[in-house]
Parts: sequence; C-alpha cells; structure tokens
Amino acid sequence: MIITIDGPAGVGKSTVARAIARRLGAVFLDTGAMYRAVTLAAVERGIAPADTEKVRGLFEVCRFEFRPEAEQMRVCIDGQDKTAEIRDPKITEQVKYIASAGPLREKLVQMQRDFAAGCERIVTEGRDQGTVAFPNAAVKFFLTADPRQRAMRRHLELTAAGKTISLEEVLRQQQVRDASDENREVGPLKPAPDSIPIDTTTLTVDQVVNRMEQIARKIIDGR
Ligand code: C5P
Repeated sequence: MIITIDGPAGVGKSTVARAIARRLGAVFLDTGAMYRAVTLAAVERGIAPADTEKVRGLFEVCRFEFRPEAEQMRVCIDGQDKTAEIRDPKITEQVKYIASAGPLREKLVQMQRDFAAGCERIVTEGRDQGTVAFPNAAVKFFLTADPRQRAMRRHLELTAAGKTISLEEVLRQQQVRDASDENREVGPLKPAPDSIPIDTTTLTVDQVVNRMEQIARKIIDGR
C-alpha cells in the first residue's frame, strides 16, 4: 500500500511523512534525498551536475544507499555517510540540474519503485510521487503553504543545523527552486488529479498529521 505526499520545498513534507508513516506502521521514503545524493556525488567527483551523460555514469560506479531511520533517511555513497552533506545549501542550489534531466529522473523513479516493491506499506514524499512514480497509489496528498512561511521553516532547520544563511537568501533560493520544479518538462511539481490538497500555512505539524491520518485510514479501511 502506497501513500504519496507531494508539494513544494519547505512545506513540511518530510516531517509529516515521517510522522504519518510511524502512525500507520509504514516505511518512509524521502525522494528529495535521492536527488540530493546524486548531485553531491557529481560535485564531489568534479562532474558538472548539468552534464547528464557523465552524471548517468555515476549510477554504474557509485553505490547509493538510502536507509530510512526514525528521525531521517540515512544516505550513504560508497559506504560513506553523507546524510548531512546532502542538505548543504550549495548542493540544494544545484539539484535542479539533476531534477530536470529526463534520463536521470527515470533512473531515480525506478529506484523508488524498486524500494517500494520491498515494503508492505510505504509513505513516499517528493514532487512527482503521485503523478509519475506511483500513479496508482492508494492515497495521494498535495501539500501547499504560503512561500514566506515555508522559507521561515527551512531557515529554522538550516540554522538549527549550524548553517549561516539569511532568511531572504533562503526565500530567494526557494523561489528559484519552485520555478524550476514547476516548469520543468519531466516530472514537474503539480498535484495529481486525484490528490487531496492540504494548505499547511496556519496548521501545526500535529494538525496536518491528524488530518492526513484520518483521511488515509478512511480510504484504507474502505478498500
Ligand atoms: O525535498 P527536497 O527539498 O529535499 O528536494 C530537493 C530537490 O530535489 C527539489 O528541489 C527537487 O528539485 C528535487 N526533487 C524532485 N523530485 C522528487 C523529489 C525531489 O525533482 N520526487
């Protein structure tokens, strides 16, 4: 059984996806971490993220591991823990090259499907989970929130992780990322026609998770 959660940067997808997965006894998959891991692998090897052919070659030589843990998804490249590095704003700014390359998206979507095939229940979050990766998912959510509110949440996360960055810079990067996510030709950020929209601007994490749990249980029980 698959539950998808899509939405823009900073809307709180990871936090609520983790919580709802815990409540429903499901595995949690953060697909943004996969795009970030490939970006980091390229940068670390001196490959331009925009060079799709060279980046594609990385899938042959690098071992990417994604292990869901209680608080986060552990990301290892060739056995080395890169969980923190993939969140660096310098990496965040470059993910768009990987995210807009059709052949790389195909590869990552396949990895996501393989991952899901090994799970009885999974909550997966990203931009295209309900539209491209899992169009037949049992329950699909699409989260939105006011852009400034989203930037404030991301800014808090980054400063808590010891990064020095201004709120205005986070907002600027977010606008660039939103535009790139919404306007790319492959796997753009958009709600699946059968997704359930939730505006999280004025809701607490608990309120969002409660609402989602209620909806998910109703759909799961009614099947
Ligand atoms: O969710 P997160 O902010 O970590 O995602 C990082 C980037 O990865 C996004 O800005 C987006 O460009 C890309 N992404 C994507 N498709 C997904 C998940 C993430 O294009 N399913």
